[in-house]
Amino acid sequence: MVYSLRYHPPPLPSLMTPDSTTILIVGAGPTGLACAISLVTNGVNPQDIAIIDAQAQGLNLSRAIAIHAKTVEELETLGCSEKLLSQGIFNHVMRFCAGRTVLLTADFPTLAARTRYPFTLTIAQTDTERVLEERLLELGVSVHRPLRLVDLKGISDGIEVTFEGGRTMKTKFLIGADGSRSMVRSLSGILYRDPISGEDPYNDAARARSHQEKPLALGDVHFSGDVPSSLSNRVYLGPRGLLLVVRLPDKPNSKPIYRLGCTVEPGTKDVSKEMLQDGLRVGLELSEHDTPKIESVMTASAFHVRYALADQFYRSLGGGAVVLVGDAAHIHSPAGGQGMNLGIRDSIQLGRVLANVIPETKSNDTIPAVALEALERYSVERRPLALQVIKMTKTLTRIVLIENTFIRTVRNIVLWALGRIPSSGKALALKLSGL
Ligand SMILES: Cc1cc2nc3c(=O)[nH]c(=O)nc-3n(C[C@H](O)[C@H](O)[C@H](O)COP(=O)(O)OP(=O)(O)OC[C@H]3O[C@@H](n4cnc5c(N)ncnc54)[C@H](O)[C@@H]3O)c2cc1C
Repeated sequence: MVYSLRYHPPPLPSLMTPDSTTILIVGAGPTGLACAISLVTNGVNPQDIAIIDAQAQGLNLSRAIAIHAKTVEELETLGCSEKLLSQGIFNHVMRFCAGRTVLLTADFPTLAARTRYPFTLTIAQTDTERVLEERLLELGVSVHRPLRLVDLKGISDGIEVTFEGGRTMKTKFLIGADGSRSMVRSLSGILYRDPISGEDPYNDAARARSHQEKPLALGDVHFSGDVPSSLSNRVYLGPRGLLLVVRLPDKPNSKPIYRLGCTVEPGTKDVSKEMLQDGLRVGLELSEHDTPKIESVMTASAFHVRYALADQFYRSLGGGAVVLVGDAAHIHSPAGGQGMNLGIRDSIQLGRVLANVIPETKSNDTIPAVALEALERYSVERRPLALQVIKMTKTLTRIVLIENTFIRTVRNIVLWALGRIPSSGKALALKLSGL
């Protein structure tokens, strides 16, 4: 007999995926993971939950970097906050500047009477997702990956979903945590549009006509020399729009990593080191000689700011219910770092709501009225919050992206004057914190 010394990996998780479950979460981004953890920590049996993701592993892209105070408080209830706090950086202020002039400061320590976390926690989204996935595993639930949902339909006793390759699964609750281009949402016939203009967020031609907004480039970079700390943790309102400079937590054996974000020319798809270097110089309003030099770019991408809200956060389908969370339910500009935060808080609340109705649901063929009423209350509570964030980030983005020299000067004077009002730092910190 010939023994092979090759390592045989365990069977792919998708092979062990059950044929039927009570709750199926589609998407293991931050919101899907937080939802699953919340369900289990609120008493749902891990065996009643399945969570899938189309990707073989979490994405390694520059995305959210900030966890605000209210979100840390909520993550504490899931047993995740300690690890996140130990891996992130506590940022006590965020300064909005024009060149070296500080116009306005979000002053988080002024929130000390309202929260144990009077700061913004800086941590890359990939690390947040890793901590959440590890916690979920500790609780006895693993993500089935790679497994992509491609179809769904209502059946008499629930919802039947189909995965790429043809396998099916039956569920009572189908949670769409599958991001802004959610298949769960579109296959359920739920509309997703800008709640103010009514536009389809993915109709780029219409967007270009009405907003003419430039794309934003994000990059995680190393600099060749030291970067003065006074340049970092700031949003610069420069002549070309926005520049963000934030130091990220150090990685072992690595030089300091900085997140840069800046507006780039329409049509930009690939972001080069030169583009980021130029955005940095223009945003800092420094000479080429005085601008810190980018040594290397670890990850970079450009994206368009889009705004959309799902018309419904849930709907009944056959004998089951579809619920949307996170970007599947709402997207907006990253101004103020609200997207992931709101999504995580939505899902933690959804986990609590569903945990209360699962015992009754399991003893019924179809979803009982009490569960639909609970989802209606959830939707009435959460949808207006998303609408508020969309309106706030739309206003913030318009203010930040002004390029006309005269209007910029007036804006800067107004912001500078606001910044001299003693309560402004607290008001801004409160708005961003989610408290
Ligand atoms: C460039 C960029 C910068 C951002 N910056 C910030 C920021 O500074 N602050 C902030 O708070 N937010 C920011 N955001 C937003 C933040 O990243 C999102 O709000 C957050 O990722 C939403 O999480 P989610 O879990 O809802 O969706 P996602 O993170 O998109 O996760 C969805 C998951 O669903 C999976 N999936 C999709 N379709 C299927 C399918 N059919 N079957 C199975 N799985 C599927 C995907 O593989 C993915 O893992 C940024 C976003 C981008 C793109």
